[in-house]
Amino acid sequence: MGINIAIDGPSGAGKSTIAKMLAAKMRYVYVDTGALYRAVAYFMVKNSTDLHSEEAVSAALSGASVALAYQDGAQRVILNGEDVSDSIRTPEISMAASAVSAMPAVREFLFALQQKIAKENNIIMDGRDIGTVVLPHADVKIFLTADAEERARRRFLELSEKGDSSTYEEVLADINQRDYNDTHRKTAPLKKADDAVEVNSTGLTAEQSSQKLFEIIQEKLNLKKPEKSKPEAKHTHSFDFKPVRRGVKLNPVKMFFYRILRSIVTLVYKITYDLHFEGKENIPKDGCNIFASNHRSYADPVLIALPTRVPFSFMAKEELFQSNIFFTALIKAFGAFPVTRGKGDTAAIDMSLERLQKGYNLVIFPEGTRSKDGTVGKGKTGVALIAAAAQVPVIPVGISFKESLKFRRKIVVKFGKPIKPEELSITSAEPRELKKLKTVIMQAITELVETDVNKL
Ligand code: C5P
Repeated sequence: MGINIAIDGPSGAGKSTIAKMLAAKMRYVYVDTGALYRAVAYFMVKNSTDLHSEEAVSAALSGASVALAYQDGAQRVILNGEDVSDSIRTPEISMAASAVSAMPAVREFLFALQQKIAKENNIIMDGRDIGTVVLPHADVKIFLTADAEERARRRFLELSEKGDSSTYEEVLADINQRDYNDTHRKTAPLKKADDAVEVNSTGLTAEQSSQKLFEIIQEKLNLKKPEKSKPEAKHTHSFDFKPVRRGVKLNPVKMFFYRILRSIVTLVYKITYDLHFEGKENIPKDGCNIFASNHRSYADPVLIALPTRVPFSFMAKEELFQSNIFFTALIKAFGAFPVTRGKGDTAAIDMSLERLQKGYNLVIFPEGTRSKDGTVGKGKTGVALIAAAAQVPVIPVGISFKESLKFRRKIVVKFGKPIKPEELSITSAEPRELKKLKTVIMQAITELVETDVNKL
């Protein structure tokens, strides 16, 4: 179950603009449910279905297949295999969506899809009935409003920019009509959930509204940053913050030998595999970073180390140090340190923090064990604890290849944008807090892993 944030409110309150900004900031998946109703409406309009006949609309529904896809982080709406994301943004389809969304059959048709997405991801979902009907147990519920005139002004500007010739008066009339429809329909009418926080965005810029919502969400998720002005408060919690001092220089002789070794291994790996690195610009030039990756093979630490200038440390199970001496020498040279499984994680966490303090980077495979089929597991919370205690950025990494590693196999290693310490802020080692932070990190990793390996 992902973390679910519901934003409901009338048309034009700025839900989608703000939800998009928040989703990008928090690395959540943004789900615009209005687009689903619009896709159904578009299908009905294209097929000349009578929009006032519930019977006709219900019967036609079986011919519509609606899905959401994500391209470069943006939501796309797919209707019967066709991307209709742009065609559904016209005043005609807005009105049609308002009409069909009042029909129970249409709401039922889209209900399961919305719940499924929310179950599988950390999401910010906007709509009319998200906090009341679709996700009644959402972690945070916000009801975003604005005066009708202000909403009409925003919509009017948006439509004019697109070249639409509707007048302000027409847009205002549309907004009022849709408000009436949304609040007066029998099924899932637009209303504030009892436990939702109401925010009125009249007179606020998108940035101001987004900041306001972000603060509410942080507070509700209990992920508030420890206050800088009271450093002693940090130590009242059940784990010690050990913020890493950046800029520590590693031994230059060691660095010299490490770079030679890295060049040789790079050459060997380039001959052996078809290597593709993406997002190298996201790799910080200095050390003291955590690289959190999905785990596919024993080669993973080396794959992550090849495009990275500063050496790594990573935990490896003790048994690996007792196998082949060449392999042991290689993983040690690449910074492996042993972890005794089943003896608790404390020593490994202390060792990880120590390595970060010394200026090394740290690779963590939160899943613990390798994934044979390429799917990304749930992950353990150790990564969250280390990241929060050390207050260092986490760079998500996704490693993808088909089946298993073979000669000349194509391997794609993607480095995502660093998740900054401010975004990691947790104040205690409470399992719930750690789990939330871990989920954010796992979500970022999952987004970098190719789901369809046949594409590789
Ligand atoms: O948000 P947007 O204007 O794109 O939504 C289009 C229409 O879909 C709205 O007028 C509303 O009637 C309907 N809708 C709904 N329930 C949702 C989302 C949208 O009824 N959760």
